[in-house]
Amino acid sequence: RLEVRHLIRSFDRLRVVNDVSFRIEAGEVACLLGPSGCGKSTILRIVAGVDMQDSGSIHVDGRLVCDTQFRIPPERRAIGMMFQDFALFPHLPVSENVAFGLPGGHAAHRDRVAELLDRVRMSRHRDSFPHELSGGEQQRIALARALAPRPRVLLMDEPFSGLDERLRDGIRDDTLSLLKDEGTAVLLVTHEPVEAMRMADQILLMRAGRIVQQGAPYNLYNAPVDRQAAAFFSDIN
Ligand code: ATP
Ligand code: MG
Repeated sequence: RLEVRHLIRSFDRLRVVNDVSFRIEAGEVACLLGPSGCGKSTILRIVAGVDMQDSGSIHVDGRLVCDTQFRIPPERRAIGMMFQDFALFPHLPVSENVAFGLPGGHAAHRDRVAELLDRVRMSRHRDSFPHELSGGEQQRIALARALAPRPRVLLMDEPFSGLDERLRDGIRDDTLSLLKDEGTAVLLVTHEPVEAMRMADQILLMRAGRIVQQGAPYNLYNAPVDRQAAAFFSDIN
């Protein structure tokens, strides 16, 4: 479970994140949805611990991870991160990429690595190198790597945006079922309403640093908070 309370972050006096609060239960996917520059990636960076808030607090499974006085380093937060460009290590084969965040590496965690490669249907590519894989295959490896240490929270910043349109639905469905089985709380950034409608248990709709509406996809679609929100969802049918 991830809880973010009253998060504020300013750059040069501009409040990029302006009193943002939300809560994501274990096994739940929350989609952070909003226009470019509204503060989505900044929130992810603060939760991951690579940037710091001016005020507000973050808890994982009820444990304080950081506030203005106290700060657990990123690697001890039980928070995983998956990037838009997948950021695989080019010099390591797939199995070593997946084992990267595990103490002792692949040798110490063969079963976990094999289980995840099986789940993302990449077992036969275990000895391949990233450059030998398609974009969709690289995405699957990045997901397996992010989940290998069993993070309680997974942060995903537009994980499907670089993928071919035809592949996206299948990869989204596979990703979702794996995330549900692992019981991870997921914060997924997108600016595609369709993606949020498909994947989210909860949508956090942002504009200019604030959450302007939050709730189940169905509720936002049926009762958008204002005309701008309505326009956002109007493309979906
Ligand atoms: P996109 O959809 O384009 O990825 P975003 O919602 O992720 O947008 P952020 O990257 O969180 O947006 O940026 C929000 C605002 O904060 C932007 O105006 C950006 O220029 C500003 N910003 C982000 N990081 C910094 C920084 N390190 N220094 C100064 N301004 C920053
Ligand atoms: Mg961003």
